[in-house]
Amino acid sequence: MKGSSRDIRTANRYRLVRQAIAESPVSRPRLAAATGLSLATVATLVGELLDQGMLIDAGFEDSGGGRPRGLLAVNPRGGALIGVEVAETHVHVEVVDLALRVLARAHEELRRGDHEPPRVAGRIAAAVSAAASRAAAEPRVLGAGISVPGMVDREGAVSVFAADWGWHDVPLLGLLSERVPYRLYLDTPLRACLVAELWFGAARGRDDAVVVSLGSGVGAGLALGGTPYRGVSNSAGEWGHTTLVLDGRPCHCGRRGCVESYVGAPGIMRNLRETSPDSPMLAPGDQAATVARLARGYVEGDPVARQVLRTTAGYLGAALADLVNLLNPEIIVLTGWVARRLGPPLLELAREALARYALRGPLAATELVLSPLPANPVSLGAATFALEGALASLGRPGTAR
Ligand SMILES: [Zn+2]
Repeated sequence: MKGSSRDIRTANRYRLVRQAIAESPVSRPRLAAATGLSLATVATLVGELLDQGMLIDAGFEDSGGGRPRGLLAVNPRGGALIGVEVAETHVHVEVVDLALRVLARAHEELRRGDHEPPRVAGRIAAAVSAAASRAAAEPRVLGAGISVPGMVDREGAVSVFAADWGWHDVPLLGLLSERVPYRLYLDTPLRACLVAELWFGAARGRDDAVVVSLGSGVGAGLALGGTPYRGVSNSAGEWGHTTLVLDGRPCHCGRRGCVESYVGAPGIMRNLRETSPDSPMLAPGDQAATVARLARGYVEGDPVARQVLRTTAGYLGAALADLVNLLNPEIIVLTGWVARRLGPPLLELAREALARYALRGPLAATELVLSPLPANPVSLGAATFALEGALASLGRPGTAR
């Protein structure tokens, strides 16, 4: 009971701060109307956030002759957040203020074959420290969120699928806590993309949302009832490794016929090879170049590019229909570099395919859209882990400012 009332309070804080970030400066009645919270709840939460310095008073709004209404804004100087994207080839760090504006960045390359856990932890720590010192004039750091590829369990041990890392049950959180002086929040890129959409993107204000990430790998971040759904061991969302074709193409997970091997970048390259083995759009070993050429070819009316996009969107639509039928979401957001590169044509074709494969009822309740967020949302999402962590720990003993 105690736990669940605290969870509700935390969820309400998220809702309120999300709205305040989107709409600063904003009045209390407007916050209540936009979040569905009562005025009394808004007043209590706002009081708490003003005390913590996370919100500030921002003047008055003219209410057309009535009593002027006090306005609130997110306090950019109320704390800094660090978002870290760890990918197979690099570490990218952003330090942002509470309005999630970028204050400083740092980037470290990870060399192939140099993936000993303590060394990777050292590179992450070095990049975090470089970015934090560049933002040194800024306020205290509330925490660092870190997105790592593969599987992250609840204790922050990590196993990674990434082809050449070979990690299994690596205690990354422990390795990092010895090297990074901030409160740490570890999770996956799928979850980072999901929270970025929930806070700042197309899923804001939507309780039941799926964020489908299309890149070299493929997966889905799920939010049910306004909360990210993690499953019992934090691996929910491995939709990319659900079976789309019985005994189909081999997948790098070791099984066959997975969604990822048809709509991930290597799968799209194979769709192209099977359509036209000698196509000049094929850049062997270069996923990004091939996908870019397909996108250009489609726009220029190239028949092979059109066929490959239709084929890819057909697989995608069938696999999205499973999500629609199973979860009945309000919105599905396509994100990731492949979705961004293939853009509106892929979206249109996937909508058509989805309509062929999904049940009519849940389909009518679902919107399929492209992510409106700029470039790469992973480090933004990771910084949001830290913001959520800071909001969740408000009012707990030992965490006072
Ligand atoms: Zn697989």
